[in-house]
Amino acid sequence: MDPLIRALRDHYGWDGFKPGQRPVLEAILSGQDALAVLPTGGGKSLCYQLPAVVRKGLVVVISPLVALMEDQVEKLKKLGVPAVCLHSGLEFSRREEISIALRDKNLRLLYLAPERLQQENIRQFLSQKAYLKEMIAIAVDEAHCISAWGHDFRPDYRRIGEIRSLCPKTPVVALSATAAPKVRADIIKLLQLRSPLVQVSSARRCNLNYSMRLRAKEPLPDILKALEASIGASLIYVRTRRLVEYWTETLRKEGIPAIPYHAGLSYNSRQDALAKFLGHSKPVLVATVAFGMGVDRADVGLVLHLNLPATPEGYLQESGRAGRDGNLANCMVFFSPSDRTKLGWAIKSSFLRKNKTALDENENDLRLEIAQEQLRRMEAIAEGEICLEQALLISVGEIVPPCGRCDRCLKKLDSHDWSKQALELLQSLENSEEGKSLKSLVPALQKIGRKGSWGWLARRLIQEDLINESNDGAKKLFLKENGRRYLSKPWPLKYAA
Ligand SMILES: [Zn+2]
Repeated sequence: MDPLIRALRDHYGWDGFKPGQRPVLEAILSGQDALAVLPTGGGKSLCYQLPAVVRKGLVVVISPLVALMEDQVEKLKKLGVPAVCLHSGLEFSRREEISIALRDKNLRLLYLAPERLQQENIRQFLSQKAYLKEMIAIAVDEAHCISAWGHDFRPDYRRIGEIRSLCPKTPVVALSATAAPKVRADIIKLLQLRSPLVQVSSARRCNLNYSMRLRAKEPLPDILKALEASIGASLIYVRTRRLVEYWTETLRKEGIPAIPYHAGLSYNSRQDALAKFLGHSKPVLVATVAFGMGVDRADVGLVLHLNLPATPEGYLQESGRAGRDGNLANCMVFFSPSDRTKLGWAIKSSFLRKNKTALDENENDLRLEIAQEQLRRMEAIAEGEICLEQALLISVGEIVPPCGRCDRCLKKLDSHDWSKQALELLQSLENSEEGKSLKSLVPALQKIGRKGSWGWLARRLIQEDLINESNDGAKKLFLKENGRRYLSKPWPLKYAA
C-alpha cells in the first residue's frame, strides 16, 4: 500500500487526500520548497503534519494564531502525535514542561509564534536540529501575512526569512488560504523559497450565493429576513466593537439570543461566546473580524456583513466560513457609501498606532496607500455590475466565468452611459493643483439626472482610477493621469443607475 495513504488512514482515519494536498506532501518529503494556496477547509495543516509522522522527525510550524496552534496541538495529542506550542502567553509552569518536550527526540510538531524566532535559545535549537538532520521541514502558515499586499500584513512576519540562514538545507513550505499573485511573489521572495512547487487550488465555492446591496436606513427588517432564511448558524460581521454591542442588543429585543464577540471582551467571555456558537443548533453571533480564524463549524448558513469589508481577500476568507458542509449558504453585504470613509480613517489611525516603530515612514505610506486601494477595490466590487464571485476571484488572480447564482447574475441591471457627466466632473478638476471638494464642485455642475448623484459618480471615477481622493478628511478630489487621458479621448462608462 502507498505509504502516504497508509499513514493518512492509520493516523487520521481518512481514505484519500483533498485536492492539492498530495503534490505538496511529496514536495516536502523530497526536500523541495513549496508554496501552497489551499482554500479554508482544504486541509492545509495536513500538508505539514503528515511528513513529520511519516518520516518520524520534527516539523516546525510558524503561525501568528495562538488559538489555532493550541487547537492543533490538542488534536495532534489525541491522535497520538507529540506536539507542543510556544508563544509569549505561556505560563511559567507550562514553559518548563515544554523545555522537557523539546529535549524529547519523539517530538513531531513544534508550533512557534513568529516573535519566538528572535530568541537565542530557540535559534540555537533550530539550527542544531537542522544540522543533525532531525528537522524535516519548516512550515510557515498564514504566509500572506509576510506581504504588504496581503490583507493581514504583520511586520514581525518579515523576519521569518532569516530562518533560511539558520537552517539552510531544510525545505520550507509556505501556506495560505488566499494569496493573490502579487502576494505569492512576495512570499517566494521574502521567505527565499528555492525553485518551489507552487500549488494553487481554486478559491471558487459553488455552494455560496453572494449578494451585496446598499444598506437601508433602518436595516433591521432586512437582517431579520436574512436570518429567517438562514439554515444552521449565522454569523454577522460589523466594523466596530460598539456596533457589536448595538446589534446584539437590538436582536435580543427581537427575541433572537444573539451572541456578541470582539477582541475587547475578556478571555472568558470570548471562550463562552465560542462555546455557545459551536454548541447551539442555530446560533446567531455578532462579531468584528476578530472572530472566525480557525473556528470549525461546518453548517454556517449565513455570513452577513453590515459594513463594507476592508479588502476582497479578507472578505473571501470571512464569507468562506459559510457552507463548509457543502450545503447552500448565503453571503450578504449591506454597505453604505460612508463605510469607505469611516473604514479608511480607522485603517489610517490603527496603522499609525501599530506600525510606528516597526516600519520606516516610506513603507508606512506605501502600506497605507495599499490599504486604501484595497478598500476602493472592495467598494468597486460592491457597487459594480459584474458577477460578484467573478469580481472577488479576479482580485485574487483567478479567472472564472460568471457564477449564475449571485444577485448580479440573477438580476440583470440596466446600464447607461455616464461618460457625459464624467467628462463634466473631470473638466471641473482639470486646472486645480490643490484639488477640490465635491461640495464646492456640485453647484457648478449640471443636474446629473437619472438615479445617480455626483457623490456616487465621483466614487465610480475613483474606482475607475480616473480621479483620486485625499485621505486627510478634507476629501479633496484630484485628477489622475488616467483622468487626463480620459479628457483628451473619452471612452464609454456604463453603470447601472
Ligand atoms: Zn454571479
